[in-house]
Amino acid sequence: MFLEQLDRVEPHLGPLARMMDTLRRPKRILAVDVPIHRDDGTIYHVEGYRVQHNLSRGPGKGGVRYHPGVNLSEVMALAGWMTIKNAAVNLPFGGAKGGIRVDPATLSTAELERLTRRYTSEIGVIIGPDRDIPAPDVNTNEQTMAWMMDTYSINQGGTQPRVVTGKPITMGGSLGRRESTGRGCFVVAREAMRKLAIPMEGARIAIQGFGNVGSAAARAFHAAGARIVAVQDATGTVHNEAGIDPAALDRHIRQDGGRVADFPGAIPVADEDFWALPCEVLLPAALEGQITRDNARSVKARLVVEGANGPTTPEAEDILLDQGCLVLPDVLANAGGVTVSYFEWVQNASSFFWTEDDINARLDRVLTEAFEAIWQVAAARQVPLRTAAFITACTRVLEARALRGLYP
Ligand code: GLU
Repeated sequence: MFLEQLDRVEPHLGPLARMMDTLRRPKRILAVDVPIHRDDGTIYHVEGYRVQHNLSRGPGKGGVRYHPGVNLSEVMALAGWMTIKNAAVNLPFGGAKGGIRVDPATLSTAELERLTRRYTSEIGVIIGPDRDIPAPDVNTNEQTMAWMMDTYSINQGGTQPRVVTGKPITMGGSLGRRESTGRGCFVVAREAMRKLAIPMEGARIAIQGFGNVGSAAARAFHAAGARIVAVQDATGTVHNEAGIDPAALDRHIRQDGGRVADFPGAIPVADEDFWALPCEVLLPAALEGQITRDNARSVKARLVVEGANGPTTPEAEDILLDQGCLVLPDVLANAGGVTVSYFEWVQNASSFFWTEDDINARLDRVLTEAFEAIWQVAAARQVPLRTAAFITACTRVLEARALRGLYP
């Protein structure tokens, strides 16, 4: 998918297109064996990766995911999307990503800690505060980042808060980072809805995934007067035309140990019916490859906001665009997370911390400006927003690459 997206942007890059191969190949790939002691005394091996896709505009930046489906080509694509995302919103970072092929639900907390520490130590040869800065992604969180920072710091012989972002607030994390990806989805959706003249008040939102991104986005939409009419996650799908209260769903899952599927404030529906539910905004906020040529035609939404990375296949995107549905691409729609990661890294460098209002206002400004710039490129070139975002980003990366030159 990533390579196909690059093919689509190449004709729009003029003379810079001669350097496109630099974006087709990650700069550096590290695959590591991660052995850990299980609680029962046995030894268990899993495979981990860290891919630095491009470093022309700054240190590598991107999350680390723990998932049984993780593999090298997935991490390569995710690292490439980070290069595009960071350049699309003009953050001074390259792109990187990491992952471990493991189902974290099968590990105890102590085993997860040992896994995280050994993985950090193994990738310690290429990460660093000015080299490559990991962050949370699918199934990793503030605790994961605390263990990573501690392990890296011990190996370096001194506290290194800037080596990871998405840390707990008490150890140098940023206010607003936890909600930032979901909040960013809301900000760019709000701007797109203005362009499409869709009123926010009463707008129907359907969300796939109720993790860090989906739940924070749901709260932001709800607070602005929109209605969360459907939520789907791995446990099932629920629907309520009158609106689901995201705070109540959050409590149901995170305090009462419930699941989306058995939330009392909505009616269960079949998983395959989710895509066809009537709504104005569809927010896929789980994994890649969810909207495909098989379900794209049933989508009723006027706007798809990609909270996840890579949720829409290129074929499905063509179908959606044909239907008159606007697709806000992942590299813009979910860039709020890495934007506040950047704020965290900057705050750590000066050991001076900003207020949450200041962070949210800056986040809003960065994303609103990026949205407007990409919207203008799309209008001027008559291309979809994803191609416009890739034109903007690839131009920045390849200009930096041209100016730095080829060594030796
Ligand atoms: N994992 C997030 C993403 O895919 C955040 C990355 C970061 O903060 O570095 O954008």
